[in-house]
Amino acid sequence: MNALVVGSGVTGAAIARELALRGFRVTLAEQFGAGTIRSASGGETRLLRMAHGEADWYTRLAWRARSGWLELQEQTGTRIFEPVGLAWLVRRPDGFEARSRATLEQAGVPYEWLSPDDGRGLFPSLAIDDLHAVMFEPDAGVLYARRATQLLAEEAERLGVERRGVRIVPADEPKADVVVWACGAWLPALFPEHVQVRVERRDVFFLGGDGSWAGTPGWVEYDAGFYGHGDVGGLGVKVAPDHPSELVDPDTLDRLPLAARERDARVYAARRFPTLAHAPVVGARVCQYDLSPDTHFLVDRHPEHPSWWLVGGGSGHGFKHGPALAEYVADCVEGTCDRAPFHALGARTGSAGLRTGT
Ligand SMILES: Cc1cc2nc3c(=O)[nH]c(=O)nc-3n(C[C@H](O)[C@H](O)[C@H](O)COP(=O)(O)OP(=O)(O)OC[C@H]3O[C@@H](n4cnc5c(N)ncnc54)[C@H](O)[C@@H]3O)c2cc1C
Repeated sequence: MNALVVGSGVTGAAIARELALRGFRVTLAEQFGAGTIRSASGGETRLLRMAHGEADWYTRLAWRARSGWLELQEQTGTRIFEPVGLAWLVRRPDGFEARSRATLEQAGVPYEWLSPDDGRGLFPSLAIDDLHAVMFEPDAGVLYARRATQLLAEEAERLGVERRGVRIVPADEPKADVVVWACGAWLPALFPEHVQVRVERRDVFFLGGDGSWAGTPGWVEYDAGFYGHGDVGGLGVKVAPDHPSELVDPDTLDRLPLAARERDARVYAARRFPTLAHAPVVGARVCQYDLSPDTHFLVDRHPEHPSWWLVGGGSGHGFKHGPALAEYVADCVEGTCDRAPFHALGARTGSAGLRTGT
């Protein structure tokens, strides 16, 4: 069997590698370059966390993916994961974090439910006056996203995958036993009649904290729509607002941060982590989310081309799942597993709230 995978972000690169491991002859086509800064996978870092509210499918996927990332790190001798843990800053007793506890327990994922005072010890400074608790995932951490994406593509190539620098569109009618379109934010424009995904802008900032921020945990304040991590890899302390934003075109977007978003990040950091109040901005990135209406991924056959699979809708939380999502997609392609009903193309209602903000 031969397969063509279109898109070499984390999703496409991981799928190409997985299919090659299963004996497919694979071509991996990428319009810019694996881990291009224009792709969602091309950011410096992405959080790996297991808590997903009641959505145990994703908790288990992230837990399996974590093993996949660690194996890749071990195999290649390349550091892609910082095991710094992740702290959920809990604002209310019945929120996303509380709803995550049962699924974490059922999946055997360790976590600690700390008082705000105990949680304070995880960071050089943490304002706790409005916190109900801190939920700490010790096995969570931070992935070096761009490097990890490139590593997956390099590993795929080592397994015999042919890598091509080319943009492929449906009108090309590519011929292969299986075609996987893993095109991230480009997917809705390629398949406007089938893919309901909003492509929204996000700005990310890195602040220059002092040495006490080195290696501190990742964190998410779900009810405020902010997340980030301590200083890993010399990048600075990441502070990222995760609030609804304008629609963008990933090809034409100027990737310069907006002053208003920088102000949001600074105000938040000064309030929640007081020792960052006067920290300079030492880096910034502008990227895009490919948001499905309900934040569930999209994994389904094209209705008119049954050998084509459309995979996307990462919805701001897709990176961590890369290696395990690839196994799932490969199982669907081989017919050993049915795609989950919540990954189907077509209309969706409600929101599963799976990204790092409501
Ligand atoms: C700011 C930000 C923060 C995030 N934080 C997290 C986080 O902390 N944790 C987490 O798990 N996830 C996070 N995410 C989400 C995660 O990064 C994405 O879900 C994931 O990277 C999507 O990967 P992808 O491969 O599906 O898409 P992409 O990474 O966008 O890759 C798609 C690739 O396909 C190529 N392509 C597109 N069309 C074509 C074509 N026609 N022909 C050839 N090539 C094509 C593109 O050039 C691109 O390289 C974040 C995303 C953003 C933007």
